[in-house]
Parts: sequence; C-alpha cells; structure tokens
Amino acid sequence: MAETGAAVRVRLAPSPTGTLHIGTARTAVFNWLFARHHGGKFLLRIEDTDKERSKPEYTANILEGLQWLGINWDSEPVIQSERIAEHRAAIQQLLDSGKAYRCYASEAELTEMRERQAAENRAPRYDNRHRDLSAEQEQAYIAEGREATIRFRMDDEAVITWTDLVRGEMRWSGADLGGDMVIARRAPADQIGDPLYNLVVVVDDAAMAITHVIRGEDHIANTAKQLLLYEALGAPAPVFAHTPLILNKEGKKLSKRDGVTSVNDFRAQGYTAEALANYMTLLGWSPPEGMDERFSLSDAAAVFGFDRVNKAGARFDWDKLNWLNSQVLHERSPEQLLADLQPLWNAQGWSSADQAWLLELCALLGPSLVTLADGIEQARAFFERPELSEAALQQLGQDGARPALQALLHQLPEGPISADTAQELLGKAVAEAGVKKGVLMKTLRAALLGSLQGPDLLTTWLLLQPSGEARARIERSL
Ligand code: GLU
Repeated sequence: MAETGAAVRVRLAPSPTGTLHIGTARTAVFNWLFARHHGGKFLLRIEDTDKERSKPEYTANILEGLQWLGINWDSEPVIQSERIAEHRAAIQQLLDSGKAYRCYASEAELTEMRERQAAENRAPRYDNRHRDLSAEQEQAYIAEGREATIRFRMDDEAVITWTDLVRGEMRWSGADLGGDMVIARRAPADQIGDPLYNLVVVVDDAAMAITHVIRGEDHIANTAKQLLLYEALGAPAPVFAHTPLILNKEGKKLSKRDGVTSVNDFRAQGYTAEALANYMTLLGWSPPEGMDERFSLSDAAAVFGFDRVNKAGARFDWDKLNWLNSQVLHERSPEQLLADLQPLWNAQGWSSADQAWLLELCALLGPSLVTLADGIEQARAFFERPELSEAALQQLGQDGARPALQALLHQLPEGPISADTAQELLGKAVAEAGVKKGVLMKTLRAALLGSLQGPDLLTTWLLLQPSGEARARIERSL
C-alpha cells in the first residue's frame, strides 16, 4: 500500500507529566523520519490537560531532549490546554446530534456495577444505563443535585477496521470497547466538564490536519474509539501506524524498574545524541540491505518506510547501543571530543589552560571510549596523581626496574619533550642500566599511571612531562 497521498503532516503529542521517556523519544524519531522522508511536517502538541500532573519543567525537558537528539519540529508547539473551547464545541456538537448524552450515574453506582461484573467474571464495562433517559428521569436526577459526565454512544454492532502501516488490516468490534465512553468529566448538568483524552486527541489531530498518527501500540484500543469519533464528528480520519513496544532483556515492557528510561538517564551515562538516535531508530526498524547499522537520522530519513518496521516488540540491546556509541566517539575529532568531555572534567574540578594539551589528551583517549563517562575514568590519571596499585608496586620491585627508572630520571630534562627525544632517553637509560627495554617500559607505566594498564605509554609520558608531573611520579616511585 502506498504510505501517503497528500502532503504528510505528523505530530508527537507528549504529555508533560514526566521527563522525556525513551518510548516517547523513539515515537518522535519515527514520526520525524517519516515526515522528513516525505518532505512533510513534523509537529508537536503538548498534551497538558492533566492539570495536576503536567508541569512546565517537563515540557521544557521534553523540548530540550528532542533538540539534543537532533529532532527539529516545524512551527510552534500546539498547547492542548489552550484549545479547550474547541474541545467543548465538539462535545456540544455531539450532544446536539444525539451522539453523546449526559450520564448521571454516581461514582458509587458505577463502582457497584463494576464489582458485580467482577464477581460474575465479566469484563468491566459501562452498561449504558443512562443512554436513553426520558426528559422526566433526567429532571429527577438534576433535582437530586446529581452531576453528569458526558458519554459518547458506542455502537456494539460496529465493526471498526483500518489499515495500519505497521500491523496491516486491523479489526475491532464495538462491543469490545467498554460501553459508552466518557468524553467529559463529571460537572453540573448545565455545563460541559473537562474534555477527556480520546475526544481531545481527535479534535486536535483534525484541527492540525494530521495525515498520519504514528504512536506506540499501547494506543491500539484508543484508535478504535477515535475512529468512531472521527466518524461522528464528520472529520476525515488519518492513517495510523502503531509501533512496537520497547522491551527489556526479559521481554517485558521497559519500565522504571529497568533503571534508565528517560533520555536524561542515557545522557548522564555518557551516551551521545547521535548514538541514541541511531539506536532508537533500530528499535523496531531495520535498514535496507547493504546499509550499515551506524547511520545518521538524515541517512535513515532518506530510506525510511513502515515496510521495514517490525510488528514484534523491540528488545533493548545494551551491547548494540554501546557499540554504536563507541563508533560515534571514535569518529569524533579531538576538538569535538573536547567539547563533550570538558564539561564533565570541569565538574570533577579538572581543568587546564593548555588547549593543545587538552586536545592531545582527547586524541589519546578517544579510540578507547565506549561512553563519555569512560572519558572521566580514563582521564583521571592525567589530572590527579594515582595511587600505586599492587601490580605496579610489584613491577617496581622487579630486577633492574628501579635502576632503569633511576637512569631515566638522571637524564630527564625539564619541560616538554618530543617523541624522538623520549625514545632516545629510553634507549640511553636501558643501555646504562643494562635491562631489556620492555622492563623499563613496564616500570615507567607503573610509575606514571600507578597501574600496568592504560593508554599509549609514550603519549602518556609526553602529556605528563611539561608540568613536571612525569618527574614527580618517577621520583615518588623510587
Ligand atoms: N499524550 C498521549 C501520550 O503521551 C498521546 C498519544 C497519542 O499520540 O495520541 O500517550
């Protein structure tokens, strides 16, 4: 099936009730890729009608997170709470045409109804008890002082079908939607209470002329309800695409218990925007034959389509994310890496006024980084004098180790040296002490880094030389 006819307009509709969630970010990625692939618009709508749970700082976090990921949007975000008059007008239209009605059932009555259904092992559903009240019955409830919700008539006989871009032909029975649906919260009977999710989404998507609704598969039942509302309101329905859920290693929906769920968390762990955006695209989509798994969002947009989106849930694969992140970091120039690492180093209280030195350090560490957080651990020994490990002490105790280091120290000049000079000095020290070069190298590493592991030894030495730190560490270990 062709995915589009008219100019594509898609939207992300986050609720600002928390920080940018990885699931929302992945939905954003798919919407963005689809819009950019078709030269369409990617719009934002902030669904802030839940007054208690919505917070402006969450909206700010969501926008900032999207920006960080490289997901830009077209036009100012629509703020749902500013559109309540339109939502109420739509509800009035449904009331006027008899497609919606007031329900005076009290909370206690509804609870009693649900408990009875549960006791009889039946699925909970509203029994449509106030669907056809007579004018006298309504007056009697109002006289009792009862408030009313507004419910939308759902035809139990209805068969709702749509062609989902991910899941193909979908079919839902009106009888499985829980009975007449509340579209406005309880309010005095001469008013329209707060409009509810399914109604406002339809009104807003129609007003924004959204052509494709791309969202998580947890919304499938909502889609069936929303299609009934489009019909009742006489608005053309968009095309739907329901993307697979993100699952944890155990195959369960990724949740707070998995530790990292918000884009902030990934960022704090040292993942780059490029790797995370790349990885989120792979959570459910596979690139065409011959395309690498490491790509930019615009590379992916060029070839993106729902024909390559899986129906099955997408398992979160840390190894793949780590691999992508290391690829991104290895591609970074020392300048770019420094821009990423400097704030992290500063937060540790580490700084240097010597820009060239900082860039050399980045060039040294870059190839071994998996996350930016590794760039803290691996840089530590260049800013703080490390303790000598057991293994380092043992190495210093080896035959010929200290004399060789002593010989090197004798010839060590002050200030910076070149790699050639360093090699020469090593050669002389080895000759003087009568040890193998390997012994001196290993011992020098132990003295400089306090450990037998670490980055390239010669570069490490050259970096520690200008400040006198190389000399100080050698002296200390003697
Ligand atoms: N605010 C809803 C959510 O965050 C939007 C769902 C939709 O895309 O319609 O789940």
